[in-house]
Amino acid sequence: MSIDRAKYSRIVVLTGAGISAASGLRTYRGPDGVWEEHEVEKYGHADALAGRPEETWRLFGGMRTPVLAARPNAAHRALAAWEASLAAHQEFLIVTQNVDGLHQRAGSNKVVELHGNLMHTRCSSPSCDLPAYRDEQSHQLKPPICPRCGSVLRPDIVLFGEEIPALPSWTAKRALRGCDLFIAIGTSGLVTPAANFVRSAEYAGARTILVNLEAMNPPNPAFKEQYLGPAETLLPALLGLDAG
Ligand SMILES: [Zn+2]
Repeated sequence: MSIDRAKYSRIVVLTGAGISAASGLRTYRGPDGVWEEHEVEKYGHADALAGRPEETWRLFGGMRTPVLAARPNAAHRALAAWEASLAAHQEFLIVTQNVDGLHQRAGSNKVVELHGNLMHTRCSSPSCDLPAYRDEQSHQLKPPICPRCGSVLRPDIVLFGEEIPALPSWTAKRALRGCDLFIAIGTSGLVTPAANFVRSAEYAGARTILVNLEAMNPPNPAFKEQYLGPAETLLPALLGLDAG
C-alpha cells in the first residue's frame, strides 16, 4: 500500500493533534485533556489575554514543560525521512495545526505552522518591533513584560477568537493550488482546515488521502483514500520507509 513518491512533484501534508498523541502530548481539549474544554475556551481566548494575561500564561505556559519533554515519534520521523528522500525538483510542504514543533525536531525542513509555536514568545502590541523569540519559561506566576514597549508578552500561538496569520495561510493555499498529492494526518477530515484543504487539492487534481484513528462519519467524498489507525504505525509503511 505504499505511495510511489517518484510519481508526484508537488506534495502537501496536513497534520493535526493525532500525529503527536504517541509523543505523549495529551490534547488539552477533550475528556483526557488537562483542562476542561470550557476553561480552554475561556482562558485561551484573545479576550483573556487582553484582560487577564496571567490566565493565558497559566494555561499555555504550563504546556511548555510537557512539550519540551516530548519527543518526535515514528510518524514525525517518517515524514522527515520522506522529505529528505525526495528529488530536487519535487516540492514538499508540511502544514501543521500543531504548536509543539515536533516536525522540526524530527528533521523536517519545510513546515508551515498555522497556529504558531508554543515555545515562542512575542509582544502583544501589534505596533511593537520586538521579534518573536524562543522561550522555554512557563511564566505561570507572572506574565512577562516587553522590554521594548512595556506591553505584556504572549505565547506566539493563535488564540481562540484570532485568525490564522496571513503568511502561513497564504503559503498553505498557494501550495494546495498546484499539488498532486495531499495527505491529511491525525486530523478530522470533516472540519476546517482539512475539509477546505482537501477540496482545494481535489480541485487541483491531486490524489487525496486521510490517515486518522477514526473513520469520517459521514465520509468526506473529497478524500479518495482513507487509512485508519495510529499514524506512527501506518505512516512508515504508507510512505514506503522504515524510519527506525
Ligand atoms: Zn513590545
